[in-house]
Amino acid sequence: MAVISVIGTGYVGLVTGTCLSDMGNQVTCIDIVEEKIEKLNNGILPIYEPGLEEMVERNVAAGRLHFTTSYAEGLKNAEFIFIAVNTPPSSVAGGADMRFVESAARMIAEELDHYAIIINKSTVPVGSGDIVSRIVRNNLKRPDVTFSVVSNPEFLREGDAIKDFQNPDRVVLGSSERDAAEKVARLYLPLRATIMITDIYTAEMIKYASNAFLATKISFINEIAQICERLGADVKEVANGMGYDRRIGRDFLDAGLGYGGSCFPKDVRALAHMADEAGLHPQMLHAVMEINHDQRRLVVNKLTDILGSLRGCVIGILGLAFKPNTDDMREAPSLDIIRWVTAQGATVRAYDPVARETAVEAMKLHSISLDNVTFCETAYDVAEGSDALVLVTHWNEFKSLNMQRIRESMRRPILIDGRNMYEPSEMTNCGFIYRGMGRGSGPAPTILPPGDTTSTLPSEPALSLTEGD
Ligand code: NAD
Repeated sequence: MAVISVIGTGYVGLVTGTCLSDMGNQVTCIDIVEEKIEKLNNGILPIYEPGLEEMVERNVAAGRLHFTTSYAEGLKNAEFIFIAVNTPPSSVAGGADMRFVESAARMIAEELDHYAIIINKSTVPVGSGDIVSRIVRNNLKRPDVTFSVVSNPEFLREGDAIKDFQNPDRVVLGSSERDAAEKVARLYLPLRATIMITDIYTAEMIKYASNAFLATKISFINEIAQICERLGADVKEVANGMGYDRRIGRDFLDAGLGYGGSCFPKDVRALAHMADEAGLHPQMLHAVMEINHDQRRLVVNKLTDILGSLRGCVIGILGLAFKPNTDDMREAPSLDIIRWVTAQGATVRAYDPVARETAVEAMKLHSISLDNVTFCETAYDVAEGSDALVLVTHWNEFKSLNMQRIRESMRRPILIDGRNMYEPSEMTNCGFIYRGMGRGSGPAPTILPPGDTTSTLPSEPALSLTEGD
């Protein structure tokens, strides 16, 4: 059992602290927002993450998990101090805003009275480990105290955060002190994951390079989708065909509205900024960002192509969160789409299974007038009297809607499928004017089963690829 402090109780900090306590460690989570800590101490989670509430409850009850706003209390006897605070985009040129990491480092220094390993889990620009070391050293209340700094970037996905923490593809640790990195590695040993120890700059870079690569895959398939749409091919089948190639893989090849959320947008921007600052010209990263932005515009273009002017139209929005299984609205495509359609004179009816409250906050933050938005209780309510429906977030519950009922309740049967969730032919047969993202309308594809070497297709297709293949 180790004594651990986790600074920051957001998506990463709360999941990390809770999972580490679930592994038998003694964990105290610290946050500066009193309301969050008060809620947590009353069993209310400040975020939505499947499975987390039960896990928090279990570990609090077992006396292994505590929450506080006090660094003095939270750092007591801590052998490991994880920094998991936010690193939002800075207002200047797209770099990372390091204010929260810097203040966490200062506050650690002001209370630390024993040796500890400070582990940076926040996504931070290359070289930030040195900055954290310097801030802690310069602000130590007891200058005789020693400490080590380790970089441990986090790769979990919101919505699958617990599973990802417990079954990571790899744990990356970077430090100039091998001993310290090995001590942190021991914390992760029960997970039986691949653990990679590098220098600190490399560990920090692995996080940015990984996110930038995944964002690139998304923008790549979105560019292909645009070409498919123009030339009559179906990008979903193109992605399947590509994905069977093990060198490519099928993950992150879903064409649609592009990436959003708290990580990809800011991390690609920050990496491009780091490269720019270093005198380089990161052309591909800039293209990735531009394509991503254009995908959101495409939805509005599809609406105006069919409806002409949007003035007076009611646009139904299915899903607000940036992706399913989270209430996170940071850089959610829904925000841009709502801003653009309302700017053209439309009103919006919207529904999300969990993100209503966070959506209201995000709209206020982005100066989107709530007067033009009606929040509904179900997808069916959204459809009622709408001129068009836009599927923005591919929540599971939207997969099996009664589309006949939806169509009959709409003023005009227009469906823009921003996530390619539905089959174009089924939607057309149901009476919708359907537009996906890069989907043609060719015959259903067929493939031979593995090992079949016959050169012609059987009269009955051996296997029909359908949604979800
Ligand atoms: P978040 O905004 O959800 O949570 C950050 C928390 O830190 C907030 O509760 C905030 O009040 C708290 N905080 C800020 N300054 C503090 C301080 N000085 N002391 C104590 N608490 C403080 O952020 P997040 O989504 O959990 O992300 C944290 C970091 O992890 C970011 O760098 C992010 O890029 C990275 N990351 C996020 C994800 C993700 O899916 N959200 C995945 C991998 C990595």
